[in-house]
Amino acid sequence: MTEEQAELVLQIARDYRSSISVACTGCAYCVTECPKKLEIPKFMELYNHLNYVGYLTLPEIDEIPEVTKPHNCIGCVKCTHHARRDFQSRML
Ligand code: SF4
Repeated sequence: MTEEQAELVLQIARDYRSSISVACTGCAYCVTECPKKLEIPKFMELYNHLNYVGYLTLPEIDEIPEVTKPHNCIGCVKCTHHARRDFQSRML
C-alpha cells in the first residue's frame, strides 16, 4: 500500500468514526438489565446507520419484534448502569 493509499484509508476511517452518533459496541449488557428486553444495541446500530447514510429501509425496521421496539421503554434507566461513561454522555 502506498503512502497516499494509507492516508486515504485513514481518512475514510476518521470520517466514519466522526459520523458515529452513539458509541455503542453492541455488548448487550444493557439488555440484561432492561425489564422490557428492548433491543437497545440494534436501535443504536440503526440510529448510527441512519445518521451515516441518511435513511433506513423498512426491512431493517420490520425485522425487529414489536414488543422490543423503543416505544415500549418505561424510562427506568436501568440500561445505563452497564454503559460506558463516554457512551452515556453521548446519549444525553
Ligand atoms: S430505560 Fe428501562 S425500559 Fe427503557 S431501554 Fe432502558 S432499561 Fe429498558
